[in-house]
Amino acid sequence: MNVLVTGGAGYIGTHTCVELLNRGDRVIVLDNYVNSSPAALRGVEQITGRTFPVYEADLMDYNAVKRVFSENQIDAVIHFAGLKAVGESVSKPLDYYRNNLIGTLNLLEVMKEHDVKKLVFSSSATVYGMNNEPPFREDMPRSTTNPYGATKLMIEDMLRDLCYACKEWSVVLLRYFNPIGAHESGLIGENPNGIPNNLMPYIVKVAAGELPCLSIYGGDYPTPDGTCIRDYIHVYDLAMGHLKALEYLGHMQGAEAINLGTGKGYSVLEVVQAFERATGRTVNHKMAPRREGDIAACYADVSKARELLHWEAVKTLEEMCRDSWNFAARNGARQ
Ligand code: NAD
Ligand code: UDP
Repeated sequence: MNVLVTGGAGYIGTHTCVELLNRGDRVIVLDNYVNSSPAALRGVEQITGRTFPVYEADLMDYNAVKRVFSENQIDAVIHFAGLKAVGESVSKPLDYYRNNLIGTLNLLEVMKEHDVKKLVFSSSATVYGMNNEPPFREDMPRSTTNPYGATKLMIEDMLRDLCYACKEWSVVLLRYFNPIGAHESGLIGENPNGIPNNLMPYIVKVAAGELPCLSIYGGDYPTPDGTCIRDYIHVYDLAMGHLKALEYLGHMQGAEAINLGTGKGYSVLEVVQAFERATGRTVNHKMAPRREGDIAACYADVSKARELLHWEAVKTLEEMCRDSWNFAARNGARQ
């Protein structure tokens, strides 16, 4: 299959490209490197021993997107490209709406013109909002508290409307829980600029001695140890979920939302302990006030992914921690 991967140089995109190439698919990558670099794609080539066309292009540039479709035979698209920092989306809402919505609209228009009607879209567990009880099921009401989440809701709706209007489209809306980990080679992984907002990149920097101490946001939640619970999923498992979703597109029509998580929740303290066990490093930490917008517990009901995609996550929390650390250590984390 010939698969266009938008945002293919990013964290989840690179891992998905590796598994697509390993399976024998052809990939074409489109990325403007706003949150990545060409070096990540060299990592993909090194792991797989394969080369592939790469377009440095912005999805907001309609003609550039058209060129990619004119120059390649494309069977399906995996659409990762988007801005994803929740906090930044609150301070720069227009950037998020413009990039994520206009980028997606351009992509869909060009897909339609070229009669490519199979799409896997990167949605997020953030669409379950603050008012549902976990485990989160795909049919629960959706809501959001920030512009990033709003773009995911709007794109999900846009895709549902498109599928309603034109029955030839097949779209899977994958709602990711908390992706962490890295390729076991340590050649690709998550490498955020500056001080990380997310838990695992922050833990890695503390373990490496680059940041002094992890602040645990809230020790008074109604959870067994008082810290928040999340459904962490290895980025390899997530990538494999995309391969399964592509297969599923061949048997379905319309738009289908599917969770990608493990179905198991771990608390912040459990993640810290698992990291220390898996790596032998110490993670200095202290309790801090709650972070605005956090919910106590978030984990997936994974029965739909199991039934429709014949997929489930296989990697353990220890493997996620080990691979996150391995990537950082290979890429110059101070030790
Ligand atoms: P990432 O930032 O590493 O990758 C996104 C890629 O898209 C980057 O390489 C970036 O340069 C590119 N990009 C952004 N805007 C673009 C544009 N206008 N034109 C071309 N390229 C553009 O992020 P990721 O963690 O790999 O996430 C991929 C997708 O999954 C995103 O849509 C994100 O919202 C979604 N998602 C991520 C998480 C997570 O925790 N990582 C959770 C839920 C959903
Ligand atoms: N968290 C924390 N300290 C940090 C970063 C995150 O205690 O420096 C907690 C956060 O409150 C949440 C969990 O770790 O309960 C996962 O946060 P992350 O930002 O990685 O993902 P989210 O689920 O918020 O998207």
